[in-house]
Amino acid sequence: MACKLIAFDLDNTFLYDADTVSAANRRAVEDAAAEGVISAIASGRVFTSLPASALAIPSIRYAITSNGAAIYRLPAPEKRLGDNGDFDKARCFRHAVCVHRVSLPADRVEAIMKVLEDYPSDRYPVSFETFIDDRAYGYADYMRRPTRYGLSPAYIEYVRTTRIMVEDIRSFILEHKNHLDGLDLQVGDPALTQELRQRLRHEVPGIYITSSVPNRIEMANEKAGKAAGIRYLMNIFGIRKEETAAFGDADNDIDMIRAAGTGIAMRNGTASCRKAADYVTKPCREDGFAWAVHHRLGITDRLAVKEKFMRAALREAKKAAAIDEVPIGCVIVRDGQIIARGYNRRNRDRSVMAHAEISAIRKACRALGDWRLNGCTLYVTLEPCPMCAGAIVQSRIDRVMIGSLSDKSGSCGSVVDLMHVKGFDHQVETESGILGEECAALLSGYFRSKRKN
Ligand SMILES: [Zn+2]
Repeated sequence: MACKLIAFDLDNTFLYDADTVSAANRRAVEDAAAEGVISAIASGRVFTSLPASALAIPSIRYAITSNGAAIYRLPAPEKRLGDNGDFDKARCFRHAVCVHRVSLPADRVEAIMKVLEDYPSDRYPVSFETFIDDRAYGYADYMRRPTRYGLSPAYIEYVRTTRIMVEDIRSFILEHKNHLDGLDLQVGDPALTQELRQRLRHEVPGIYITSSVPNRIEMANEKAGKAAGIRYLMNIFGIRKEETAAFGDADNDIDMIRAAGTGIAMRNGTASCRKAADYVTKPCREDGFAWAVHHRLGITDRLAVKEKFMRAALREAKKAAAIDEVPIGCVIVRDGQIIARGYNRRNRDRSVMAHAEISAIRKACRALGDWRLNGCTLYVTLEPCPMCAGAIVQSRIDRVMIGSLSDKSGSCGSVVDLMHVKGFDHQVETESGILGEECAALLSGYFRSKRKN
């Protein structure tokens, strides 16, 4: 069953730290989008604390926030950018639409705060964060001395930049008891966290209570939960459970992992989270998210495909090196198959026309029985010269994948760009840097050995 919806936790699942998305995880989301899969963030964080690194990925379309207490539709990619074309967080927030929200009932807030009266913060390392209308508020002493409350050093900057400081947070919470999306406790002592969690579970029924990290207690409306978030998206898109996947690492991800057709836990996740999952992937730090997207959900790893074909072009280049020619190689691909190969034989053939690309284009035309190569992608280890670029445009090749760039004769943008000339009746998509270092090293190695001789 093909996957149509992916929901994923951020911290320690999709993000390396408070605000870093790896290139591999970003590509995996884009690969999924290329196959029509909808991607949604599913975080315990409040909406305005979501990291720029994730919101800037255009193919992420939804954000389940505050552990499912609020769900947002993210704006169209162009509405996330500022005038300079860079990601603009304020503009992204302005254009996002909250499509679903449930708040904590006021009497539940009162009941929670009643339990916490037994733990005054001057004697117990108990701090509060609360979320009202997408703003996060934090206890002032916790923001001044976060380590007293057990906050991981990697998150200190994040908390200080996203929370509004409140001195008397207990009174503040009670004053706003009608508007709380969520209420979190950060506790600097593991035994105390356990005790508090047990007391809250027993003495305050009818709330959703969970944890994203062991020394945190997160509370919301009983109808919240990341599972409610993923079900909401399944409903509006008419997607079945079997067509969904969810990723997480912590106890607040368990309900979502169970609600999805394929529940995936990170190897760095809690024991209970891993136990709830259908599949345990590599750790977050080893891009376990991207790995499972490609290897478990069956979404094509487009970079791996490109590298596979560039490797074939490199093998051609080595054939040129073996006969003492400048090592440049090329393959032409159609429908996922190599239909022609070529390598540089300029000296051997005593012809300037014996460039790798021209030779491959000739063979591709023979293979297809047509001079038109629409639907083909050409992989070449070095940016094409003007002659080859001309032949590429004339043969109507769709795409050119380039290994290393050439500042001497590169005609796909380095010296001149013949691939995107407005007046021409055919434009060619280009991408460079595929196995770029290997391609460049092969050439520089060749010229180095020439100089020695
Ligand atoms: Zn050429």
